[in-house]
Amino acid sequence: MSRNLLLSCLLTLFIGACATSPTGRHQLMLVSPSQAAQASEQAYPQKLKEYAAKGKLNNDPQTLARVKKITGRLIAQAVRMYPQSRSWDWEVVLIDDPETVNAWCMAGGKMAIYTGLIEKLKPTDDELAQVMAHEISHALANHVAEQMSVAMASQMGLAVLSATALHDSRYRSAALTGAALAATLAIQLPYSRAAEAEADRIGIEIAARAGYDPRSAASLWRKMGQLNKSSPPELLNTHPSADNRQHTLAELAPKMMQYYHPDEVHPVYPLD
Ligand SMILES: [Zn+2]
Repeated sequence: MSRNLLLSCLLTLFIGACATSPTGRHQLMLVSPSQAAQASEQAYPQKLKEYAAKGKLNNDPQTLARVKKITGRLIAQAVRMYPQSRSWDWEVVLIDDPETVNAWCMAGGKMAIYTGLIEKLKPTDDELAQVMAHEISHALANHVAEQMSVAMASQMGLAVLSATALHDSRYRSAALTGAALAATLAIQLPYSRAAEAEADRIGIEIAARAGYDPRSAASLWRKMGQLNKSSPPELLNTHPSADNRQHTLAELAPKMMQYYHPDEVHPVYPLD
């Protein structure tokens, strides 16, 4: 490919790569949400294989049941509010790492939560729901695809690979290898303040609709902040907390109470 052709390809790609988030923010999208989900289908099992090889996939039935019940209730609401996520093959695993306070959700609903988050933070069910709803919201609002785009754009080679793939199906599988790498990198990059605010807003509503107390969003981040003084949670590296986060969430909670009906029966998305 000549340099000029390459540049025009990239330019076309960038111009065609603008999308709008649920709150109207412009997003750079080199990969479409469905490409991002497809890349995660490759990256997620790869990542789980690495954890399994180190004996770090936790199968404690009680904790797993707790995580799956909470996450399953959140997903049931997520797919109702964001129908495009209905086709996602949602999964969640528990990673045995008592030192790491972290959780993530790749594009396409591939999630992980670390035992450190449960052991160190000691969240209530309501607070645990807030963490997972926040992670799910990043995937729903295409923040993960956005991060993948950043990861790809910062690696010229990958961007070129995906530019080529857009025009030539022969290269599609090669590009996906690059995209799968980007899917893995995406969950390690810090989200922007704007993305954080969106995920907070979407997450608290999903959790409320799933029967989890909106007031627990502020208490969750308070616990996270307290922990930060002694041993900084990994999660805060990727989810930078604005000083006013707890305040904003506390203000949002009364508006969310209309969706919160803890005594109703809440559907649970089956996670096996
Ligand atoms: Zn976040």
